[in-house]
Amino acid sequence: MKKPLIASDIDGVVVDWMNPFIQHINTHFGYSLRYEDCHTHTLMDLLQVDFEELVKICADFEQKVPFHHHPFMEEGYQGLQSLQEDFEIIFITSRPHSYEAYTRQMIQEHFGVEVIFAHGAQMQYGTQTGRKKKWQLADELGALYLIEDNPYEFDGWQASTKPICHKQPWNSYLPQVHPDIPHTTWPEIVDIIRKTYQKGGVMES
Ligand SMILES: [Mg+2]
Repeated sequence: MKKPLIASDIDGVVVDWMNPFIQHINTHFGYSLRYEDCHTHTLMDLLQVDFEELVKICADFEQKVPFHHHPFMEEGYQGLQSLQEDFEIIFITSRPHSYEAYTRQMIQEHFGVEVIFAHGAQMQYGTQTGRKKKWQLADELGALYLIEDNPYEFDGWQASTKPICHKQPWNSYLPQVHPDIPHTTWPEIVDIIRKTYQKGGVMES
């Protein structure tokens, strides 16, 4: 019997991008940001810079701290590994094109599965419009759940795929705008998925 499918974002859900980024901008760009103070997913707002300056900062970060230096989040890594016993996992990410090959190889090595890239024509750093939303891609794939941390990705959700938000400082306001979306940490994410979908593929009523 085919295992049910779960879709997961990568950065902010199973890979820690923000801690290396904060460390970099604090060291090289004069910031004194703390992780818990990152209350927006929009980096221009977080850093109080225009788009041109943001591109410069991000290019410097990507050059000096490339994606393969970003660590896995232990709870997310273990959580997805344990879910793989009973579920198929697929990753949906908005990482830039330049990291496509590396990302596919890293996910293949650790999880043995595919990565879907959600970047559109001019997609950069996760906030542009004019692309397919991750929930649309997850729905097309027939995923039961999509685990995501970018609060913008939950807007306009119209899919049989159910949303789960991995709790982060930049999505702390989500329960106010989407009170029905689970907003939580990895142990509970695993619990939610396991409890609502019993082993053997029978949905609980
Ligand atoms: Mg993310």
